[in-house]
Amino acid sequence: MKELIDQLRDTGHLPAEGFFALLTMRDREAEAYLMEQARQVAVQHFGKGIYVRGLIELSNVCRNDCLYCGIRRSNGRVERYTLTREQVMNCCEQGYEIGFRTIVLQGGEWGEERSQWIADLVAEVKQRWPECAITLSLGEHPRETYALWRQAGADRYLLRHETHNERLYSLLHPRGMTIEHRLQCLDWLQELGFQVGAGFMVGAPFQSLRSIVEDIQFLVAFRPQMIGIGPFIPQHDTPLARFPAGTVEMTARIYAILRLALPQALIPSTTAMATLAPGGRLRGILAGANVVMPNLSPVESRAKYSLYDNKASLGAESAQGVMQLSRELATIGYSIDWSRGDSPLCPS
Ligand code: SAM
Repeated sequence: MKELIDQLRDTGHLPAEGFFALLTMRDREAEAYLMEQARQVAVQHFGKGIYVRGLIELSNVCRNDCLYCGIRRSNGRVERYTLTREQVMNCCEQGYEIGFRTIVLQGGEWGEERSQWIADLVAEVKQRWPECAITLSLGEHPRETYALWRQAGADRYLLRHETHNERLYSLLHPRGMTIEHRLQCLDWLQELGFQVGAGFMVGAPFQSLRSIVEDIQFLVAFRPQMIGIGPFIPQHDTPLARFPAGTVEMTARIYAILRLALPQALIPSTTAMATLAPGGRLRGILAGANVVMPNLSPVESRAKYSLYDNKASLGAESAQGVMQLSRELATIGYSIDWSRGDSPLCPS
């Protein structure tokens, strides 16, 4: 195992069987070695600073119907909301004062008729705080819409590919959504000069370790600047409510593998990690993750952005709780890095 881990660290590549062996290994010593190597590589590239992003959940209105997601269109039990322009600006102002220099605007997928509203919002945030980076995570759109948002000043775009396996993709999504189109969107975003993030859920219903290997291979080939990976967590009003959640352990192992394969990628230790286990966030960082995204949304709307059950949004998961986050990071020898935290692989 140690040789495989060294090979991955030294070349950035492994054959599919090598990735499979790392995902299934049971040897605790080898696991500890994997984590240690991933940490060392992260520290080599980013030091012991963890980038922070202020996450604003713009709206839980969504035209899509992904079977795993609590804000899917068919979920009639969600109280829908959309933040006003003023609310978003207030969140940004609060975030800026706390020290955030990246704002992430995430939300359900809207129709194209609202694209100009987003562009105007991006332009306004950029004009007011030009030193801040803006990340969008608003789903699949035509190339022109992405171009409009890029022109308005958006710097980065997160669009998890969800799974590279066609069959699994069709089991997790409604008819009409395809992996081909998702990948097409990722290509457009890259062409337009966004720093792009892809990724997937770990432990999603029907997912096999073989399909995780395919996802890892896709990410290694695509080389996104950001990698968004978190455990699947069921949401009680979705068709996949009865499936078990993924695990912090497997997610951390995948962070470590990807850190060795893509040493300069920005890898958040995601909210789902913090939701699943106390200290989940720190486990991710100890596996080589180097970003956290505390919640900057208005407190009263956070519960409505219920992608999955018991989603963490308070304490160290909250932008207002950065002192707590800072203290938690200090317990493992890390601290917050307040800079914009662009990707070293930045295309522009
Ligand atoms: N609409 C945008 C999109 O499709 O990219 C952004 C919002 S979407 C809710 C953000 C991510 O949440 C998805 O890419 C998905 O991986 C994750 N997600 C949704 N439901 C989840 C669940 N039950 N457990 C864990 N993650 C989930």
